[in-house]
Amino acid sequence: MWTQLVLGVMLSTTAWSVPNPTIRYDGHKVLQILPKTIEDVHELLSLAKKYHLDIWKSPRYLNETFDVRVDPEQITDFVNDIEALGLKANHWITDVQKLIDEISSGRNRRATFSIGAFNDHASINAYLDSLASANPHVTVHTMGNSYEGRAIKYVKISNNLGVNKKAIYADGGIHAREWLAVTTVLYFIDQIANNPSRDRTIDALLGKFDFYFAPVVNPDGYEYSRSHDRMWRKNRRPVISGCNGVDLNRNFAYHWNPDNGGSRNPCEEVHAGTHATSEIETKHLQNFLCSHSNLIAYLNVHTYGQYWIYPWGYTPILPTDYRDLDHLGRSAATAIRHTHGRTFTVGEDTRVLYAAAGGADDYAKGACGVKYSYTVELRDTGLHGFVAPTSYIIPAGEETFAGFKAFATELVHYEHL
Ligand SMILES: [Zn+2]
Repeated sequence: MWTQLVLGVMLSTTAWSVPNPTIRYDGHKVLQILPKTIEDVHELLSLAKKYHLDIWKSPRYLNETFDVRVDPEQITDFVNDIEALGLKANHWITDVQKLIDEISSGRNRRATFSIGAFNDHASINAYLDSLASANPHVTVHTMGNSYEGRAIKYVKISNNLGVNKKAIYADGGIHAREWLAVTTVLYFIDQIANNPSRDRTIDALLGKFDFYFAPVVNPDGYEYSRSHDRMWRKNRRPVISGCNGVDLNRNFAYHWNPDNGGSRNPCEEVHAGTHATSEIETKHLQNFLCSHSNLIAYLNVHTYGQYWIYPWGYTPILPTDYRDLDHLGRSAATAIRHTHGRTFTVGEDTRVLYAAAGGADDYAKGACGVKYSYTVELRDTGLHGFVAPTSYIIPAGEETFAGFKAFATELVHYEHL
C-alpha cells in the first residue's frame, strides 16, 4: 500500500507542478531574543519546551540570538514569560506563511531540473544519473533506500589518475526543511563535474582528491516538506500514533544521548530515536562514512546561521587536533567573506551553549576517523531562516563553493598531499 502512497507523492511533486504544502503557518511569527547570560539561554530552552515551540536557531555563543517560531495563540503568554525574564522579544518574521507563499510563487515551473531551483527528489536523482552517463569522471551510486523506499544516491567524481587519493565528502538535506543545503551540494556537483568556468583550481583539486556528494540524505522528509509541511525536519518513519519521524542528526551512534540536545519524545522536532541508529537513513550514512577509509574530510551541510564548525557536538571538550580543524575552517570562512561579504563563524560545535549528541559530524570523526569533519550552516542569520528564497540558491552556492575550494586547497598544503 505504501508503494501507491509514495507514487502518489512523487506524481504530485514533480518539478513542473508547483507544490503547495498543505499545512499552513498563517500568523506564525519567528521571534528573535538576545540572551544576556548562559542562564538566560537555559531559561529560553525550557520555555521553548514548555510551549512545545519550534526552535529555529539556538545560540552557540553569547551575543547571538535565539530564534523561535510561535503560533498566534501562544504569542501573548510566551512574550509575557520572556519579559518576566528581563528579555526582549523582537518580532523578526511576522508571518511565516507569507514567506512560504513567496517562495512557492518563485518555484521552478520548468519540466527540467535546474541548478538554480528547488527541485523535487526524483528530478535530482534523474539529474545525477544523467550526469554520470554524460561524464566519464562521474559515477552514481546508492547508499540504500529510505524508509519509504526512495534511493539515497551519491556521486563520485574522480579523474582516476593517481592511486590512493584522499577523498572529500559532502551531503545535504539531513534536515528536510533545509532546502538550501540540497541546492548547495548540487551546486558543488555541477561545478566540479562540469567546471563551467574552466577553473584551474578545480582541475588541480581533482588531481589530489576524489569527491563524493549526496545532495539528499533524508529524501522522505524532503519530499514531505515539499508536499505537506514546509517546516518538516525529521525523517518520516511512524514512531508512535500521531507522531512521525526521528531527527537523523541526533541518531548517530557516537555518544548518542537523547538527553543531550535531543529528546526522547517522538512528537518533538529533535527526537533522537529509541536507540542509536534506529533509523535506516542513519544506518546507510554510517555505513558510507566508515566504509570509505580514504575519506579525510566531511561537510554535513545545513541551514542556517552561517557557521563552519567542528566536533565535538556532544561535549564542550575540544578534540586534541582542534587547531588543525580550526585552521582549515578559517581558510573557508575567509574565502566565503570575499565572495558576497558574509561572515561565517568558525569554532567548535558545542562551546558552552549548544550541546547536541548523536550528530553526523561527531560520528564521522569519532567512529570512522574522518579527521576534518564539519557541520556547515549556510546563510542567512535569520532574515528568511529556513524559508530561503530562490534568489539565494546561486549566491549561496557561489560563496560556499569558494569556501570549499579554499578549504580543499589549504588541506593539500597543510597535510602535504
Ligand atoms: Zn539542520
